[in-house]
Amino acid sequence: MPDATGPANPTDTTLLAVRDLEKSYGSGSSRFDALRGISLDIRAGESLAIVGKSGSGKSTLMHVLALLDEPTAGTVVLDRRNVKDLKRSELNTARNKTFGFVFQQFFLTASQTVLENVSLPLAIAGVPVRARREQAREALEQLGVVDKAANKATDLSGGQKQRVAIARAIVGRPRIIFADEPTGNLDSATGQVVEDILFTLNREQGITLVVVTHDDDLAARCDRRVRIHDGRIVEEVAR
Ligand code: ADP
Ligand code: MG
Repeated sequence: MPDATGPANPTDTTLLAVRDLEKSYGSGSSRFDALRGISLDIRAGESLAIVGKSGSGKSTLMHVLALLDEPTAGTVVLDRRNVKDLKRSELNTARNKTFGFVFQQFFLTASQTVLENVSLPLAIAGVPVRARREQAREALEQLGVVDKAANKATDLSGGQKQRVAIARAIVGRPRIIFADEPTGNLDSATGQVVEDILFTLNREQGITLVVVTHDDDLAARCDRRVRIHDGRIVEEVAR
């Protein structure tokens, strides 16, 4: 396996890499090893599915990849930099600028409007209010739900909620979208539409797509898929 921390190679398109990742929860007799030595490269522009049964470690891996959680052992390399070497502020900025997130449960704030929900990543990034509003409207327009901008987030169907969540994911122009079971709470027709939206963003805007799923049909649409079992990669398939 190539050394992800090695000297720059202009033909190498690796955006994010992990080596020998381990993640344990708890300690002593209640310790559980959720990741047991995972190495993986994510290339710019690809669509990658992380598949496996419930409890296999998919979400844990995604959280470590997305710098939302720290591994117990192993390295995470973003843009050829070991994230351990980043200051907390650099880490926050890197996470904010690089990643967009879509979750099965949408995670929209019920008391806020759709526009406020979509503006949130920009607010965190310190973008001024007016620019925030403009960019959030643009993202909502792109997802076909700009007419819902003033609605409370709860006044939407599941499909609309996930569109809003995707708008929030792309509003900061991320390089990678992490989607954890993005169609898990949707009926199959609506899920198909949401899938199409994600793959269109991947194809037309070159946003790298990492999808965590136990849906084999969704996984089969990705350029590449890795299967996790008990915290290890047991299979890798390229389309
Ligand atoms: P998946 O997404 O594939 O369903 P997860 O990564 O969520 O799997 O979980 C992997 C394993 O780690 C599961 O057995 C789960 O119970 C355990 N786990 C996940 N998060 C925690 C946590 N915060 N504390 C303890 N155990 C956890
Ligand atoms: Mg999960």
